[in-house]
Amino acid sequence: MQTQPKASHFINGEYVEDTAGTPIEVIYAATGEKIAQVYSATPAIVEQALDAARAAWPAWAAMSGTERGRILRRAADMIRDRNHELSVLETYDTGKPYQETIAVDATSGADALEYFGGMAATLTGEHIQLGDDWVYTRREALGVCVGIGAWNYPTQIACWKGAPALACGNSLVFKPSETTPLCALKVAEILVEAGLPKGIYNVIQGLGDVGAALVTDDRVDKVSLTGSVPTGRKVYAAAAAGIKHVTMELGGKSPMIVFEDADIENAVSGAILGNFYSSGQVCSNGTRVFVHKDIKEAFLKRLSERLATAVIGDPQDPDTNFGPVVSERQMDIVLGYIEKGQAEGARLVYGGKRLDRDGFYLEPTVFADVKDDMTIAREEIFGPVMAVLDFEDEADVMKRANDTEFGLAAGVFTNDLTRAHRVAAGFEAGTCFINSYNDAPVEAPFGGSKNSGVGRENSKAAIEHYSQLKSVYVRMGDVEAPF
Ligand code: NAD
Repeated sequence: MQTQPKASHFINGEYVEDTAGTPIEVIYAATGEKIAQVYSATPAIVEQALDAARAAWPAWAAMSGTERGRILRRAADMIRDRNHELSVLETYDTGKPYQETIAVDATSGADALEYFGGMAATLTGEHIQLGDDWVYTRREALGVCVGIGAWNYPTQIACWKGAPALACGNSLVFKPSETTPLCALKVAEILVEAGLPKGIYNVIQGLGDVGAALVTDDRVDKVSLTGSVPTGRKVYAAAAAGIKHVTMELGGKSPMIVFEDADIENAVSGAILGNFYSSGQVCSNGTRVFVHKDIKEAFLKRLSERLATAVIGDPQDPDTNFGPVVSERQMDIVLGYIEKGQAEGARLVYGGKRLDRDGFYLEPTVFADVKDDMTIAREEIFGPVMAVLDFEDEADVMKRANDTEFGLAAGVFTNDLTRAHRVAAGFEAGTCFINSYNDAPVEAPFGGSKNSGVGRENSKAAIEHYSQLKSVYVRMGDVEAPF
């Protein structure tokens, strides 16, 4: 497979190169080998991308929603047709197993393009009658949007930001994570092939400085970031200086509560999905697993048995279901947390080591007897490390579950119907699960509360974050003035 892209950037409908930028090496996490190289955007590239996006959006916004939507839906179909090729690339970009990428990444990007493509024609204002006079509202595009991505879901993030932005008539300049620069270029290529006018969806590469240059530019009307809380603070502050619209999809340390009456097999499945899918590199993961003390040992035993069946290996092999973490740097960060967990007295129940093979492989790792104040229970690790904490009382566990700066997601496993809804209502989190974990259908709003973010992606809610209302007052009679 050809992993080296034609050029680093995609601007105004075509690939663009500028080798004066800092080289960014793309390393395959499964081997540690370099598989491509791109160049960080120079100021000239940033300029080119923003100029293209600025020039293109008014004509795009002026098209009917039906026409815009048709292009997005065509792109969705093309992504589905090329799912295999895109999934292989996603696996090279991230190291995530093909078994996952074929099921989740490009397909969820296609879902977003299809959903928002379908919605584009339905976006309208309203009519407000005021006696003989009336007000009508126009739902208008914001203008130029900037999307900045994290490295865990490069295709999905490129689509989740692009689809609603474009459906609402905006243009987008997307900067992927410097760790995974390859997939968004393919999304841009496909959109243009589907008929998207030039300059509406642009991709430029770079590190934080390129992101910062985009966020502070006067031509930009909206910034949507997927990243960590510290980056979110910086980007939010920079956007605030220009009074720009923002969506912040940030990190988490989400709780999952397993009550004594839960179906243990399902709870273990939820805990596996919420801690080890994508080698634990999922923002909404339920990494603080509170298990009722009556079922704790049964839960840990079943969890360990099931973890032993994980197929760890070449991520391109369809049988592999657990791959490496994205980079050496991330692996070292996670190993640091595992060391801290042990040093602070948590009981290592499973895993804990780097695997003796090339690439950045870690064992799925489980700590039990974790206490609320331990580092591994407070900080986002973003790797395959689960912390199991004991509890006995619902009110007490709710207090502990919510005692965090984060508020991205939360889950509860119980067979008590009223308790399930009471607990979901009590969670201080944007996205909650009852007897499930980490489902993210495009039809449902996704996002965080507290420090985990502002705004929502997906669903009808995203429209509010990519468009604005203009009120037009219409007087039918004479205008009365005091003098
Ligand atoms: P990160 O915060 O290090 O980087 C995110 C992006 O921001 C990158 O593209 C980076 O280049 C850019 N960036 C860095 N500094 C910047 C600055 N000053 N101005 C503008 N852009 C800047 O995050 P990461 O390590 O790539 O990803 C992991 C984090 O992302 C985790 O915290 C995870 O929880 C979070 N995440 C959140 C969601 C969500 O939807 N809530 C989804 C995926 C990942």
